Amino acid sequence: MKISKIKSIEVLDSRARPTLCTTVYLDDGSTGQAMVPSGASTGQLEAYELRDKNDQRYCGLGVQNAVKNSEEALKILKGVSSEDQLIIDNKLIELDATENKSKLGANAILSVSLACARAASNSMSISLYEYLNIMYKGISNKNSTMSLPVPMLNIMNGGCHANNNIDIQEFMIIPSNKFNFKDGLMKSVEVYTNLKSILKEKGLSVSVGDEGGFAPNLKTSEEVLDLIILSIERTGLIYLDDMSIALDCAASELFSKDSYKLTGENKKFSSDEMVFYMQALVDKYEIKSVEDPFDEKDWDAWKTFTKNNNDLQIVGDDIFVTQEKILRKGIESKVANSILVKLNQVGTLSETMQAISLAKNSGFKTIISHRSGETEDSFIADFAVAVDAGQIKTGAPARSDRTSKYNRLLLIEDELYP
Ligand code: PGA
Ligand code: ZN
Repeated sequence: MKISKIKSIEVLDSRARPTLCTTVYLDDGSTGQAMVPSGASTGQLEAYELRDKNDQRYCGLGVQNAVKNSEEALKILKGVSSEDQLIIDNKLIELDATENKSKLGANAILSVSLACARAASNSMSISLYEYLNIMYKGISNKNSTMSLPVPMLNIMNGGCHANNNIDIQEFMIIPSNKFNFKDGLMKSVEVYTNLKSILKEKGLSVSVGDEGGFAPNLKTSEEVLDLIILSIERTGLIYLDDMSIALDCAASELFSKDSYKLTGENKKFSSDEMVFYMQALVDKYEIKSVEDPFDEKDWDAWKTFTKNNNDLQIVGDDIFVTQEKILRKGIESKVANSILVKLNQVGTLSETMQAISLAKNSGFKTIISHRSGETEDSFIADFAVAVDAGQIKTGAPARSDRTSKYNRLLLIEDELYP
């Protein structure tokens, strides 16, 4: 069905920053709406997030120019079929004509790209995940099935997502894949709830960070890991058999002038020392997955660590920024074995699917991810199911910006497996 109108407004994200909400209208009266998220620990090569930099509004963070740009995209999209996602995305890329989508803004482009997909699924009267699965089959040239992802729940927040001394940004729990989605989520919620009780018993703060995980003022990663394992055990679960732990170190945030500074732990490491530190931590706690253990430019450390850890999931976020070109280099150089996928790091739906397809064809695992600044839009839940991603990382099981994704996955599971 043909696109007839695009309308955008500024709405708020979970960190009180403005973002775009875009509605695409079709000739048959169908509409599709999307809101875009925003990161804090961003990779340097991410697509550009356009902000107004007008101090008179929203402390300079307004997105009125992006709103205008998204609506002006109608001049190239009017009359284009909403089902031709590849054509839509390519036209947006051509109109922008910059390497990092800095002219229109990746936030403007992504809001249109996602709203078109929603409009198409609404017009066809099929679920968003079914529609995206059809699209993914076309892009990947494979008969891809659908599946519920295993959730990675960020239950302790540090780094730049919290106002505490914890150096590592995210401590996540992963329920065993022997559980279905609903039961895995329930077990994770029980661990989260028991963790809250344990923190209270110890007189520690139970206020939360940007992604809904607790953010007490602890100093070392080991203290955090011990508390998480204690809460897994108090839940009556067996650590590793029933529930594992994953880390997102967001190490680019720790890196400056050739060294890693762990302020909470009061340590300073060279690249080699950081490899050693990460190895010891991962071994001691039998960590299952580690994201961004090193700076996005410290490829030698990534290579060594990947070579030494065959059974560990090593996830590239800031290093790959969901960009097919960088991922291809990373695969050749063997710098990781998995990719974190964030739609707004690249800016269009079809480019994101192309990166996922390359990852899967190369034996890389894929994890669909939220951003630390989120909205109630649950697009990534449908997306993770549609591309058979295997895993989703979307914060703690608390705060509506995070639970909207988990709740949508519960509904999808109920539809697919009633
Ligand atoms: P961000 O954090 O959205 O602030 O980049 C999430 C992550 O690093 O995975
Ligand atoms: Zn990350």
